Amino acid sequence: MARKLFQCGHTGKGKYCHECERLHKESAVIHAHEEYRKVVKRERRARIIAAPVSLICLPSDVQDEALTLIETIKKGTRCHKILHAKRLLKSGQRDVISIKIGWGHRLVCREQPSGEVLPEWVGSHEAYNKRYSKIVC
Ligand SMILES: [Zn+2]
Repeated sequence: MARKLFQCGHTGKGKYCHECERLHKESAVIHAHEEYRKVVKRERRARIIAAPVSLICLPSDVQDEALTLIETIKKGTRCHKILHAKRLLKSGQRDVISIKIGWGHRLVCREQPSGEVLPEWVGSHEAYNKRYSKIVC
């Protein structure tokens, strides 16, 4: 079969332009990827906004870890089972639970009289020290 010139300007064999068909499929795939990324981004943003503590000004890796921890706590996982979680016993705040997020940040939760643990605050280690290091003599 001889090669023919299609309306699009490509040449090829067959009833339609395979080059255009290929390009069309590729762009559909790229478009689907972009849409997917947009959806993921939008959902992430919604989770950050809906979080019980403010996560807006934090680095994205801290936001992600905080969201994961908040969900773990919400599921009812006991705090002593969470890695790097500790009660602030030294400063006499037994109901306050501090969880390390990486090296520089903390998630702080407070145990309610009912036993339920609610996230209270997330921030840098320095801000955490200022806020929670009540020294009890
Ligand atoms: Zn073509």
